[in-house]
Amino acid sequence: MADQFENVRELLLVRIGEITLKGLNRGRFVARLISNMKRRINDLGEFSIVQSHSRIWIHALSGNPPMQEVARRLSSVFGIVSISPAIEFESDWGILVRVVEEYAADVLAGAGRRTFKFETKRVDKSFPLSSYEVSSELGAILLEKFPEQLSVLMHEPDLTFHVEIREKTYIYHETIPGHAGLPVGMSGRGMLLLSGGIDSPVAGYMMASRGMILEAIYFHTFPYTSQKALDKVEKLARILSRFAGRIAFHVVDFTDIQLELNDKVPEDMLTIVMRRVMMRVAEKLAIERNAKALITGESLGQVASQTAEALMTTDIVVDLPIFRPLIGMDKNDTVALARKIGTFETSILPYDDCCTVFVSKHPKTHPSLYDAERAEARIDVEAIVEMSCEKISTKLIDLTFEEGD
Ligand code: ATP
Ligand code: MG
Repeated sequence: MADQFENVRELLLVRIGEITLKGLNRGRFVARLISNMKRRINDLGEFSIVQSHSRIWIHALSGNPPMQEVARRLSSVFGIVSISPAIEFESDWGILVRVVEEYAADVLAGAGRRTFKFETKRVDKSFPLSSYEVSSELGAILLEKFPEQLSVLMHEPDLTFHVEIREKTYIYHETIPGHAGLPVGMSGRGMLLLSGGIDSPVAGYMMASRGMILEAIYFHTFPYTSQKALDKVEKLARILSRFAGRIAFHVVDFTDIQLELNDKVPEDMLTIVMRRVMMRVAEKLAIERNAKALITGESLGQVASQTAEALMTTDIVVDLPIFRPLIGMDKNDTVALARKIGTFETSILPYDDCCTVFVSKHPKTHPSLYDAERAEARIDVEAIVEMSCEKISTKLIDLTFEEGD
């Protein structure tokens, strides 16, 4: 389309969220969002990204980047509500008619019969036709040109052609939904306890959507949990990085510790003690990495280690807040979200995690703090945490993951 007329340019209109943000926060929001957007698309070409009129306008500066692909990538950047691929040209009635005819021909190519309408917004009041006149004239022109394919429908048509007349004129018909939220980086850093399950990747997504930079920690108990289990968790981190940007992925070699716990801790308290150790290790690493919170995929009542009492016994061993965004969520809703963000299929691959291998057969569902402390009296917790922290290897997961990987 852009090649067929002179001075017709493709662009993306990006709508941004959190309109309640005021003052300084709004400035920070936009600056951070634009920098996250750039990072997500800079391998596709050079772009001008400018905020104005409560939107962000993206033009390609050089080359011929695939704007649909640019839009698809940006749709997973938090802070973006929706994106419309659009074209831009001189504000002139004659040009508008010709461009609309071509634009509609492109949209209708290969499609069957469609209902449609025009919606026009005239910001530049010096334009000779009113919004209503532009819509009805253009509607009539298209009906005459495509009588077999088009009919008018004012309420929920298949196609709505949006025309905006400003200093330049814009046409678009598609609105790709984004994931809204706050740009990653607005809310500090969080340390996600990432397992291979369904819940923790969703929890990470939710906190990243509130602007947190994610780091992930995974406790690996090779060979009781396989290399495949580790690969699976890493893949989940990769999928998350599509939304959260770069993620530092930390793997703790937890086998010796796990075996020691198995050996020394009473069976019914094993899960709780293991979780208390994990929290302490995660917190130590979090503080070292300047993270402000721990994040887990726990949901109240889901399993024995997720009763209020059990959660209290893990909360109490750390000072950092533990964010549990799924705490009140129904499992079906979590699964739906996991499907939406693309983690579900990976999460259900059948590789064990340490919580299923080293699980208490008859866990105490309502452990008291006393139970937990008594169980831990048999081990040297400090030494165990220290030793775990020495067995951490870190890898940066970047935005190299794309569909089909
Ligand atoms: P998930 O689906 O996230 O695995 P879950 O419902 O299976 O959660 P648990 O296995 O009890 O619940 O784990 C609760 C939380 O503890 C997880 O959501 C995750 O945040 C953390 N967790 C569990 N196992 C590990 C692990 N091996 N490494 C890191 N974090 C873990
Ligand atoms: Mg699990």
